[in-house]
Amino acid sequence: MAKVDIKYTKLFINNEWVDSVSKKTFPTINPHDESVITQVAEGDKADVDLAVNAAVKAFHRYSEWRTMDASQRGRLLNKLADLMERDSKYLGQLETLDCGKPVKTATGEALWSAQVVRYFAGKADKIHGNTIPADGPVISMTMKEPVGVCGQIIPWNYPIPMFVWKIAPALAAGCTIIVKPAEQTPLTALAMAALVKEAGFPPGVVNVVPGYGPTAGAALTSHPKVDKVAFTGSTEVGRIIMTAASQVNLKRVTLELGGKSPLVIFNDADIDMAAEIAHDAAFANGGQCCVAATRTYVQSEIYDKFVAKAAEVAKKRAVGNPFDDVHQGPQIDDEMFGKVMNYIKIGKSEGARCVAGGDRKGKSGYYIEPTVFADVKDNMKIAREEIFGPVQSILKFETFEEVLDRANDSNYGLGAGVVTNDINLAMNFVKHARAGSVWVNMYDYVTPQTPFGGFRDSGIGRELGEDGIQQYLETKTVTISLPKAQSK
Ligand code: ADP
Repeated sequence: MAKVDIKYTKLFINNEWVDSVSKKTFPTINPHDESVITQVAEGDKADVDLAVNAAVKAFHRYSEWRTMDASQRGRLLNKLADLMERDSKYLGQLETLDCGKPVKTATGEALWSAQVVRYFAGKADKIHGNTIPADGPVISMTMKEPVGVCGQIIPWNYPIPMFVWKIAPALAAGCTIIVKPAEQTPLTALAMAALVKEAGFPPGVVNVVPGYGPTAGAALTSHPKVDKVAFTGSTEVGRIIMTAASQVNLKRVTLELGGKSPLVIFNDADIDMAAEIAHDAAFANGGQCCVAATRTYVQSEIYDKFVAKAAEVAKKRAVGNPFDDVHQGPQIDDEMFGKVMNYIKIGKSEGARCVAGGDRKGKSGYYIEPTVFADVKDNMKIAREEIFGPVQSILKFETFEEVLDRANDSNYGLGAGVVTNDINLAMNFVKHARAGSVWVNMYDYVTPQTPFGGFRDSGIGRELGEDGIQQYLETKTVTISLPKAQSK
């Protein structure tokens, strides 16, 4: 196991490292061996108050941040991206320790996240309103203004990408921020906070308060001085957050929630290629991915061959110590491990045919074998509920119309994919799939430039791309009286 230096374990408020008001700490656990990595300051309501006050002060109209040129905000973001690139190896190792994802993947995520920061750096001074040909003797225009103080609550599955998906557009727009990282993975958020300070962002612009959801998280979502809440996590918690956000004031809300995404493979597909696409779509990040395509629909002519290939690919997936050269590390924690193992048990008892995996891997750590179920029926729990683990369900279909209805038969709508060389099948699927992202002959390809988010219970609003920055802007309409000029 690599020795990773842990530099930051306190709360980051007003560009200072502080203990929590209660002096309480909580442990963060290494999912590889279930050991305590370190204790982290535990934020709660009193700490959230301090962080919100710092963010409110930093948002004051004459503050350094509010009077800074937009281009300078962009320069600070670019500096942050430079620092992330400089430290990508360290950030990757820290993530692997805390989150259990393979170190190569974690380092790649840190580098990719730097590109997200660069994308929004470029947007900072390109935020334009419109001029409007309004009725009457007037000039009308819109100005785009930062929404204000933002509470951002992030999950544990992609801690660095989620941190920048939240802060980068908000900073480009000129907002101030309080981030609450997931209790399972606070370490990289704190390391990122140190880089924010080093980049030169003024005090109070970004604050990071680790802690638990029902305490620190809830304090943020119900705080009267927070103007907007952005959340990524489960649909269940998303509902709680949306309710809390509407109680003391009416916060703007962005939610990126769960999914049970379909990938549809037609008879004409290359079976080997389709099996690889479907495998990555289901097993990326150990299945701990909101957009994972865990319902693999395969047309009947190629069904048996596809199932055999999918099982073969899953059996080859290297699962083990994430500091080694593996495809998959442990699941995040004891609770998720138990939940996923229970779904595997349910799948077997519902009569699905387990053709790969189906058990835990090893005796310690939260490792689970990549598991493939064939002959899955639409009404089975494993076909309807989000498992958030390495479990793929393969279902058989006959016709386009049938599979379209079945693919769309879910309350979720985050992602969908189709594998075929028939352009009519592909484009009709693209048009009718009810999902925020649709991929053709690929899956889960997300870029800084392309919006990401869900239909229906998968969320509200979009992150990344132009849509992403709009979520942090208010539109102000300005109308100026223009009586006819009197010549003197
Ligand atoms: P996951 O399924 O990724 O564990 P959760 O939705 O449970 O997702 O958690 C995602 C984030 O939401 C975490 O930072 C967690 O602490 C936070 N959270 C959980 N419950 C609440 C709550 N009641 N209010 C605010 N934040 C919460």
